[in-house]
Amino acid sequence: MTNILITDDYSLSAKSFLSSIPEVFLCHSLEHQPSDQEIKDCHALLIRSKTKVSAQLVSKAPNLRFIGTATSGLDHIDLEACQQKGIVVFNPADANARSAAEHALSLLLCLSKNLIQGNLAIRNGQWRSPLSRGLELYGQRLSLIGVGRVGSHMAKISQGLGMEVFGYDPYKEDAYFKNLNIQRVGLSEAISCADIISLHTPLTDETKNILNRKNMQQCNENCLIINTSRGDCLNQTDLIDYLNSGKIAGAALDVFQKEPLKENSPLLKANNLLMSPHIGAFTQSAFENASLETVKWLLQQLSLN
Ligand code: NAD
Repeated sequence: MTNILITDDYSLSAKSFLSSIPEVFLCHSLEHQPSDQEIKDCHALLIRSKTKVSAQLVSKAPNLRFIGTATSGLDHIDLEACQQKGIVVFNPADANARSAAEHALSLLLCLSKNLIQGNLAIRNGQWRSPLSRGLELYGQRLSLIGVGRVGSHMAKISQGLGMEVFGYDPYKEDAYFKNLNIQRVGLSEAISCADIISLHTPLTDETKNILNRKNMQQCNENCLIINTSRGDCLNQTDLIDYLNSGKIAGAALDVFQKEPLKENSPLLKANNLLMSPHIGAFTQSAFENASLETVKWLLQQLSLN
């Protein structure tokens, strides 16, 4: 019998699929962090980002062989500790890329068309007077920083709107850019040529604060910045200063340096900043796809598919 411990939400169909396998004993942890007893006995762990897999947790799991995490990132897992113990880790990285790209575009549409202010104006008994004119996206220059799964989807849907797409990603081949019809540029040019900058890198030592006080100086003053990647990829304090001084026209964030955002966060008072509570992948399709893909991967690893 294989003991599988689930510590977070998986779709009903994924859980039914697992339950239908006679060789599987499925256990649901009451907490996102499993207890010592639960982790001691489990052979496989199915988690999402609220479960932190530290070296300490791994040391308490002598039988653990597989970890499936239905998330786009792996920042919540100590991969080195897992590797040392021979634990195989999987995440269905593709499952939510479309939803995340659609979210980046939704933020851009809301920001550029003043939709939130328009909605508020009507609710406050006003009409169009408090609003400034919006921006037509057709023909605008969009710079993607990071052109992986989400970035490439963002490129395709933005090209569908007639935007001119530029990309900075030192880890992709020229042919990759060519196939996507993206003009390859360096970081500095990506920032200085853009009407819109959208961040799509993972968080690494290199990408931490990849947009910062120094290089945001190169932005044109009509520039809009979108971040759906990770909060630390962009320096929030620097962004607030640029927004409040009008050196950047607007920004939209789905991810933050500290989540959830604190009640007294200075972001709440920043000029022309649109925020969403890290919901880029919070769609039913992404949830379903990520749950099923992770479960199918695990069953394949266990030769139970
Ligand atoms: P990915 O790994 O497919 O793509 C990331 C790209 O960034 C890669 O092509 C890589 O070469 C590039 N990159 C790495 N270092 C770079 C650097 N220094 N400069 C420029 N490019 C660099 O990842 P993805 O699935 O496209 O996800 C992108 C980001 O979006 C990640 O941070 C991910 O966690 C985040 N994400 C957020 C949500 C959300 O809910 N907001 C949902 C999905 C993904």
